[in-house]
Amino acid sequence: MTDLPTISHYINGAAAAGTSTRTAPVFNPATGTVAKNVLLASARDLDDAVAVARAAYPAWRDMSQARRQTIMYNFRELLNARKGDLAEILTAEHGKVTSDALGEIIRGLEVVEFALGMPHLSKGEYSENVSTGVDVYSVRQSLGVVGIISPFNFPAMVPLWYFPIAIAAGNTVVLKPSEKDPSASNWLAELFTEAGLPAGVFNVVHGDKEAVDALLVNPDVQAISFVGSTPIARYIYETAAKNGKRVQSLGGAKNHMLVLPDADLELTADAAVNAGFGSAGERCMAISVIVAVEPVADELIAKIAERVKSLTVGDGTRGCDMGPLITKVHRDKVAGYIDIAKADGADIVIDGRGVKVDGDPNGFWLGPTLFDKVSVDSAVYLDEIFGPVLSIVRVASYQEGLDLINASQYGNGTAIFTNDGGAARRFQNEVQVGMVGINVPIPVPVAYHSFGGWKNSLFGDAKAYGPAGVNFFTREKAVTSRWLDPSHGGINLGFPQNQ
Ligand code: NAD
Repeated sequence: MTDLPTISHYINGAAAAGTSTRTAPVFNPATGTVAKNVLLASARDLDDAVAVARAAYPAWRDMSQARRQTIMYNFRELLNARKGDLAEILTAEHGKVTSDALGEIIRGLEVVEFALGMPHLSKGEYSENVSTGVDVYSVRQSLGVVGIISPFNFPAMVPLWYFPIAIAAGNTVVLKPSEKDPSASNWLAELFTEAGLPAGVFNVVHGDKEAVDALLVNPDVQAISFVGSTPIARYIYETAAKNGKRVQSLGGAKNHMLVLPDADLELTADAAVNAGFGSAGERCMAISVIVAVEPVADELIAKIAERVKSLTVGDGTRGCDMGPLITKVHRDKVAGYIDIAKADGADIVIDGRGVKVDGDPNGFWLGPTLFDKVSVDSAVYLDEIFGPVLSIVRVASYQEGLDLINASQYGNGTAIFTNDGGAARRFQNEVQVGMVGINVPIPVPVAYHSFGGWKNSLFGDAKAYGPAGVNFFTREKAVTSRWLDPSHGGINLGFPQNQ
């Protein structure tokens, strides 16, 4: 065990050991073995990284947009050329199958491409002669050092939602990735250095609560972008806001797919399986509840079950449909919901325990699991399970389905499947959820729109990436300007009025 590699921090353009010798194991979820260890920073290590980012800020902020964009462009080219290498890292530490790993990188790459437009996106506005000889204009300026805290389930894409925009806008960054799959962040930071990014602009500090708490209170950190589970998202929002920072804090989810009786059931069943079991259900936009408006349920469930039985589970490098879960603890917790479902009276249509696996028997496996007639009082319905578990709830009408979705504490994503344009339009208008799909099961907005949920799926008012991301990582300054001429003289204590 002692000769396992240790993943260090990446500070000031190079690997850094810091002062703390605490570590956490990093598993290969497909074999169940510890493959590496990762350093867990002390508060002092975190503060040292912030000091580096602070020192790097003035030169990066003052670098011309043209030169900054050249570096961004180089980074985009390198990431695109080497995305296969990054996908291998994601599969080895997260477990997701290689095609899915590539998919998340490509969605992250889209944000880099969006950030290439920063000179245009950050342009201000100009009003000439608002009063005689007076002009008003606004500029958007960077904030300084910003902190990003990311979850395990998208080790590349979630950091890529934030740091390209933050850095293109002139900020410097300290990223604290998930300790469960930390290598992707170092890889991205090294690649950015190779693209020409000056040392200290993008720093990665690994750690747990100690590092996060230090980031939240450090007075030199201007803003925090967080993605993770709802209880931690709420804590991050409250603590960072109390410490005077801008915060965008994205939390958990329980996403419903409402299926109306007129839907195309073949396409709906395909969509339900893809969105329910892709990435083993470890996606914040996974569909975890199908709300079937009767009389559609029996036929739909039969079609879903037929497809689920054909899914292959195994090592992500072997072309299977689904990989393992992130840790044994998480796998056991998710599998525990099968007993809860049984106790709460649901029908277990497919039990994913004991699934046939193409891979090491010690991996953290759980096969796709399907429940019917789930009670809306059951923890199976109420909790974010975050695994390959799809629940079906039967309702009598569109209204009953809508009311159920709107009663959820979460409001991240939802979808309606129907051929009725009027019903879809009504749903889009009435549903209390931040991202809505109409015959699209995972409605993750493209990079030039913004991503984020409502209710307990997002704390703060700023969504991720797109125009909201540019606003979040910049602040507006309005300038009122007059070039003096003798006619402007004289004393007047009244509030300035435009003439
Ligand atoms: P998590 O909340 O356990 O961890 C997220 C981050 O917070 C990690 O970097 C972790 O080290 C840190 N952290 C954990 N406990 C902490 C504590 N007590 N104090 C301070 N920091 C702490 O989440 P996870 O298990 O890594 O990720 C899965 C969760 O993320 C799910 O709930 C999922 O829905 C959510 N998620 C949401 C979105 C979204 O866009 N809304 C996207 C991806 C994931």
